[in-house]
Amino acid sequence: MNYALPRTSTRTRTSVSPVMAVLLVWGFVASSASAAEPNADVVTFPLQVAIALEGGKPVCTAAWFAQQVSDANELYARSRVRFRVTKTREISEKFAALHTRADRDALAKLTEANVIDVFVVAALEDVDEPGRYRKGVAWTSRPEAARFLILSAVAPATVLAHELGHFFGNGHSAVPDNLMSYTRTGGRVFFDDSQVAKVNAFADQFLASGRLAEARSSLEARER
Ligand SMILES: [Zn+2]
Repeated sequence: MNYALPRTSTRTRTSVSPVMAVLLVWGFVASSASAAEPNADVVTFPLQVAIALEGGKPVCTAAWFAQQVSDANELYARSRVRFRVTKTREISEKFAALHTRADRDALAKLTEANVIDVFVVAALEDVDEPGRYRKGVAWTSRPEAARFLILSAVAPATVLAHELGHFFGNGHSAVPDNLMSYTRTGGRVFFDDSQVAKVNAFADQFLASGRLAEARSSLEARER
């Protein structure tokens, strides 16, 4: 609110026809309503990223991960949920190649409270089908039942978004190009309405239970 600004009535020399004026007003109302509604209570969750070292170098760049986050935020734009990287660190070479359940479970001790932990590794072998390599997984460790995401550094664009879909309660879909499907035709990847509703419901539940906190120092969060 600009309380300090004097209210001035300005007359414009440009003539606007009544029809044009109505369209302009309608356009303004329509665009402000559609822009405001979905963002009314947007929640930004913190991603805490741990990148494994391999041969002394991180298995992915910060830019590569930032692109995964940006793709995810684009896909989640229909939901109230957004993601932001709040911390990035490098972790030991011993986590670069994960083959067994125990390898994945060992990451649990590196997780922190109230964030979504994402580990990026060079190789992520399927624990049920040895020899098959995965692009990503939403994993629940034993015995702690810590839930976190693991991405392979060779993951294509929407893998982080897909694993976040699992984190936010969604199973797989059989519909091609659905974010939660394994099938891509090259068409636009999307979330359907029930999946968006599930993401929103899980977000509320994560906040209510204290499992996740909102990302701090978030401009969006402060502007709510
Ligand atoms: Zn999946």
